[in-house]
Amino acid sequence: MGSAAAWQLARRGARVLCLERFDIPHAMGSSHGVTRIIRMPYYEDPRYVPLLRRAYQLWREIEAVSGERLLVTTGSIDAGPEDGELFQGALASARQHQLEHEVLTGAQIARRFPAYHLPRVHRGVFQPDGGFVVSELAIVAHVRAAQSQGAEIHARERVVSWEPRGSQRISVVTDRAVYRARQLILTAGAWVGELAAVLKPMAIPERQVLAWLQPRRPELFEPSRFPVFNLAVEEGRYYGLPVFQVPGFKFGRYHHRGESVPNPDELRREPDAEDERILRQFAQRYFPDGCGPTMALRTCMFTNTPDEHFIIDRHPEYPQVIVASPCSGHGYKFCSVIGEILAEMAINGESRHQIDFLRLSRNGLANHAGP
Ligand SMILES: Cc1cc2nc3c(=O)[nH]c(=O)nc-3n(C[C@H](O)[C@H](O)[C@H](O)COP(=O)(O)OP(=O)(O)OC[C@H]3O[C@@H](n4cnc5c(N)ncnc54)[C@H](O)[C@@H]3O)c2cc1C
Repeated sequence: MGSAAAWQLARRGARVLCLERFDIPHAMGSSHGVTRIIRMPYYEDPRYVPLLRRAYQLWREIEAVSGERLLVTTGSIDAGPEDGELFQGALASARQHQLEHEVLTGAQIARRFPAYHLPRVHRGVFQPDGGFVVSELAIVAHVRAAQSQGAEIHARERVVSWEPRGSQRISVVTDRAVYRARQLILTAGAWVGELAAVLKPMAIPERQVLAWLQPRRPELFEPSRFPVFNLAVEEGRYYGLPVFQVPGFKFGRYHHRGESVPNPDELRREPDAEDERILRQFAQRYFPDGCGPTMALRTCMFTNTPDEHFIIDRHPEYPQVIVASPCSGHGYKFCSVIGEILAEMAINGESRHQIDFLRLSRNGLANHAGP
């Protein structure tokens, strides 16, 4: 979110300083692990679809600027029981926004994409524009594009605190210097509650684990034959992607073991045998040809809101501070458009995009606002 905002601000002529406490890129936050799913028939809420359309355009734009391939199209499958929220939500989004799509049974999915072994009676929405973004590479692409437009980017510089100066200015204290600015955009991911106490009760970091397993039939797990997926099955909700860069089929379970992380600096980073068991059990049942030896396991953090929608808004007390972070485990695909939204808010006061459903004042968040 931060690197995309830096580019969008810099290309509009703003003077930008972007501060990152670790390296660029790094594996300590929420954006590492090579790939992130992008998909259009958004079962979480159809209001995300217009944002997705713009996100796709901007991913293509940053690809053109950087000369890197950042978005790979595989198609997407959102599947589960016919009366379940995931399938019904994806179908409703696809219909409402007239997205090209097909409804397939589990049996039809298996015939078309033989890596999949879903319950035969499950239903899935196949949508051809789905795919994945190459996540760390896309961060680097945004950083380089921002730099080429004059943005100053400092890695290994941690923001320690910030203080408003009247309603127009702000000073930011880091472990290296003190800066003055007209506006501050906080995109600190899992650490956002540390930098904006108002968000702390409603931006809860959670430990996640990703697995990459060597497929026994690798030809079935290539991007050309393996659509990215979101699946609701008996064991929970899972997502997965084809083999790309790491020699394994990649997947994870939403809210893996339900482990909230009160302090992201104390995240239990090393995956253990139970993490692996949970993930292998899923692959064994639904992707048996993908369940070979483990190639990699990695931890990562979600930052969850109570309703699992994002928060993008101005700070309730300090209008010169804009916050964007808690993305509840589904935000990466939107980074390109969130960068644009943040730049428009900072420069024009408001964004042209419809983001009322992501504001702090929305229903469902009010009870969590705390003092
Ligand atoms: C396992 C996993 C799988 C996911 N899969 C998907 C997916 O398939 N599709 C999808 O769309 N989304 C997915 N997500 C969610 C998505 O990756 C996140 O929503 C997104 O990456 C969050 O980006 P961010 O910029 O908010 O956070 P980050 O990328 O973590 O960036 C926040 C940055 O702020 C820096 N920072 C924090 N505090 C300070 C400070 N005090 N000073 C300076 N810098 C600071 C951090 O170092 C970090 O670099 C997944 C997340 C996880 C964990």
